[in-house]
Amino acid sequence: MLSYLHGFHAGNFADMHKHAALWLVLEHLRKKNKPFCVIDTHAGSGWYDLGSEQAAKTGEWKDGYARAKDGANAPEMLQHFLNYVATFDPVAKGRDYGVREGDDYQGPFYPGSPFIIRDMLRDDDELVLMELHPREHEMLHHRVKRDARIHLHKRDGYEGVVAMMPPAIRRGLVLMDPSYDVKQDYQKAAKAIHEAWEKWPTATFMLWYPILLDGFDADLRKSFSAIKASGGVLCAELATDQGGAKGRMRGTGLLVINPPWQFDQQLGDIGNWLARTCKLPGPANHQMRWLVPAA
Ligand code: SAM
Repeated sequence: MLSYLHGFHAGNFADMHKHAALWLVLEHLRKKNKPFCVIDTHAGSGWYDLGSEQAAKTGEWKDGYARAKDGANAPEMLQHFLNYVATFDPVAKGRDYGVREGDDYQGPFYPGSPFIIRDMLRDDDELVLMELHPREHEMLHHRVKRDARIHLHKRDGYEGVVAMMPPAIRRGLVLMDPSYDVKQDYQKAAKAIHEAWEKWPTATFMLWYPILLDGFDADLRKSFSAIKASGGVLCAELATDQGGAKGRMRGTGLLVINPPWQFDQQLGDIGNWLARTCKLPGPANHQMRWLVPAA
């Protein structure tokens, strides 16, 4: 069952936290003059029009990106990301972002993970994308098809990532950002990441999860505590203890295997700032802990 469409949620507080963390890992990978490979197992459609009916229906981006972009004194690395988003304009003339004749866009625009990663790739870096939803896949295909560094598959991200391990380029990141349409997604995500990490133990792995009232996030943390990665396993959560009814998020979490050097301090500063700046259902906190310490 594929009922989730990210267009309703793009730019919300969870995207701010997840995409800032993604940006930090990409910045780190770009520091070395050696190619890297990123595998994005649940890609979505690539970028989003925040002026669309979909985005207006939930208004979630107003509590996330809109507040962050107007916030004062953002940590430096987050400010770099916000500057990038502010200039992200897929419909600007001469840009190759897959805009079709006759499409009607309002703006502002928000890049999803495929474009955040794409815009950080250098000539020899690679990006592998997986997306199962037929319409999201079709849109993404149109948007990335002219870029030879990007390989898009209409494939199950849980099965695909394990089958692809390890990639030919041995430095890199796996981002897994499921929609959790069904509760089995929690188990599938934990199992796929564990198996993929066993075959590519030096990579960074980042799993996103929502914090709801159902408690499945605790199961994920437990599974990840068994991953004895040499670079450790970090858990970062931006959440409030209020709200969460009717499947609405009261928080957002990330599990990161082998995070880069200083990632914990940087994400800590960013998370604390987002907790003060974004709007969650109640007063928010950012908490980080090592589930497995780095060796
Ligand atoms: N990563 C995107 C971003 O940050 O912009 C958002 C991804 S969205 C949360 C999850 C996506 O996963 C949806 O587009 C959904 O269609 C897709 N999806 C759901 N189940 C999948 C599966 N088993 N394999 C690959 N994609 C899947």
